Amino acid sequence: MTDLRLPTRLRVGPVGQRFESDVIIVGSGAAGMAAAIRVLDAGRRVTMITKGALGDGSTAWAQGGLAAVTDPADSLTDHLADTLVAGAGLCEPDQVAELVAAAPAAIERMIELGARFDRAIDGALALGLEGGHHHRRIIHAGGDASGAEVARSLAASLAGSRPAHQSRPSSRGQFTLLERCTAVDAIRTADGAVRGLRVIDGDGVVGELYADAVVLAAGGIGQAWSTTTNPATATGDGLGIALRAGAIIRDPEFVQFHPTVLVVPPAHRLPGDRGVLISEAVRGEGARLVNGHGKLIMDGRHPMGDLAPRDVVAAAMHADLLASGDEQLFLDGTALGATTWRQHFPTILQLCRERGVDPITEPVPVRPAEHYFCGGILATLDGVTTVPGLYAVGEVASTGVQGANRLASNSLTEAFIAGDRLGRLLSVRDVETEARIAVISAALRYGAALDEVDHPYLLDDQAPAVVGSAQRPRLVKAITRGAGVLRDGSGLTELLAELAAAPQSNQEGSAADVETTNLQVVGALVGTAALLRTESRGSHRRSDHDRPVPSWQRHSYLALQSDGQLGTATETAAAAA
Ligand SMILES: Cc1cc2nc3c(=O)[nH]c(=O)nc-3n(C[C@H](O)[C@H](O)[C@H](O)COP(=O)(O)OP(=O)(O)OC[C@H]3O[C@@H](n4cnc5c(N)ncnc54)[C@H](O)[C@@H]3O)c2cc1C
Repeated sequence: MTDLRLPTRLRVGPVGQRFESDVIIVGSGAAGMAAAIRVLDAGRRVTMITKGALGDGSTAWAQGGLAAVTDPADSLTDHLADTLVAGAGLCEPDQVAELVAAAPAAIERMIELGARFDRAIDGALALGLEGGHHHRRIIHAGGDASGAEVARSLAASLAGSRPAHQSRPSSRGQFTLLERCTAVDAIRTADGAVRGLRVIDGDGVVGELYADAVVLAAGGIGQAWSTTTNPATATGDGLGIALRAGAIIRDPEFVQFHPTVLVVPPAHRLPGDRGVLISEAVRGEGARLVNGHGKLIMDGRHPMGDLAPRDVVAAAMHADLLASGDEQLFLDGTALGATTWRQHFPTILQLCRERGVDPITEPVPVRPAEHYFCGGILATLDGVTTVPGLYAVGEVASTGVQGANRLASNSLTEAFIAGDRLGRLLSVRDVETEARIAVISAALRYGAALDEVDHPYLLDDQAPAVVGSAQRPRLVKAITRGAGVLRDGSGLTELLAELAAAPQSNQEGSAADVETTNLQVVGALVGTAALLRTESRGSHRRSDHDRPVPSWQRHSYLALQSDGQLGTATETAAAAA
């Protein structure tokens, strides 16, 4: 136990402006945009807040695509089974069943909204294969530009620029987009319900927005690690906002590291350049992982070889790197040939070539990097959380679909489905819907043995504070060292001590300070839960507890207490019952 205390409220400047809306959505990725389209179509007012410009999240960077059963030779049962295997005992089977059943219709809905997916010669959707899938079921666009097409089509639909034959109902609600705007904290009523949001705009002016519903669709947490595939926006703000609003966070120790991220040759490294993700689909087409001596890394390590689930591949690579002391391994895709590279992976090819590596003629230097957050804010697939008025969809939510490890290409599908379903839920505001939401949120709260955790409704008895942005490099270094691909008890204890040592300031915080405070939250959640879980399972690997332990087929739950400490509880997963 450390004396790590997190701010229960963030200190920012005086309020300079006030707005009112029906629904506030934080985030303009697939989840946020899918929700907004439904709510607008129902004639309600939506205010969307995004840190950069519309569509600036991970969504637009997704390469592989979206998993959904569309081939008659494939089956929902097989998609379900593959997801449960990857989830290593911590998926909620009912939620996964809902997801896989909803996925084919979700693809149809995206096509209706204007998405143009790749087609085979016979006109059917072209299907890719990725790690952990036993069937070709990955729907993609532009070869490896799948996320960009999803983001483009949803943004175009939001902007009302859909093709003329898909005319939008004339009763469309009013859409307000606040770009370069950072959400800070939820605004709550005396009984704990969320009814608004505090934000800081691009000029540093603080605003308060009021609405019936606040939707967190704020994406991932990758910026807490020094190497990540995620965009700069992914600083875990959604987690911080939810935690400080009294929400429960589930399974945050499960962080997926993508095995194959390009190690940019030193001569081509630019400050702030992102890591280039080499999609699993490249291994699906036959590329192999080798070390500097040409030895096949995955040989004899897993029946699916190079297409084993991500955690297995990343752990094998990590072990090889530790044993050899090398900085990188290689992904050899030279056998794919120029045509396959150009037709299937044009974006990856270009991004690698721009950084001095030609995948057609040479093996690509790679190593694992933080990629996807499997845990998150406890929520249903409709986005309902434990806090009235607060909703969570997409990567920031833990719906039970991703378990201890995400199956490749299930996340974009989940983000769209959850956003779409929540959008439909928030389309009507009537007593019946609100009563239903209240029942779901109470069931989540009390069904999860959370009486062990003290999670008071209001946490406002602490003086508001922030962690200054000057602390950011130190926090990121500590999280990278203590909570990487392979963890152990002493490293995690050191991490929590390092986080506790970061001084809090009671000066008015900037957007950069808000992000840094949320990075501390990310480290605290991941570190605390990873220390608690004395086993290795899915994407959580510990060198001092290197196997899964059956009695640990449990979820971890964390909540913020009024003194700023994290309360924890665990509960047997549905799959273990
Ligand atoms: C390189 C890469 C490749 C991927 N490939 C695939 C793939 O092939 N298939 C797949 O299924 N998944 C893939 N993923 C994962 C997938 O893209 C994401 O899980 C998914 O897109 C998340 O969608 P989202 O809407 O939840 O969040 P995002 O698309 O990440 O959007 C988050 C939004 O929240 C906003 N935001 C965050 N904090 C704040 C704040 N404080 N205030 C205001 N706005 C805020 C951001 O600006 C952004 O608009 C990939 C991810 C990456 C990074």
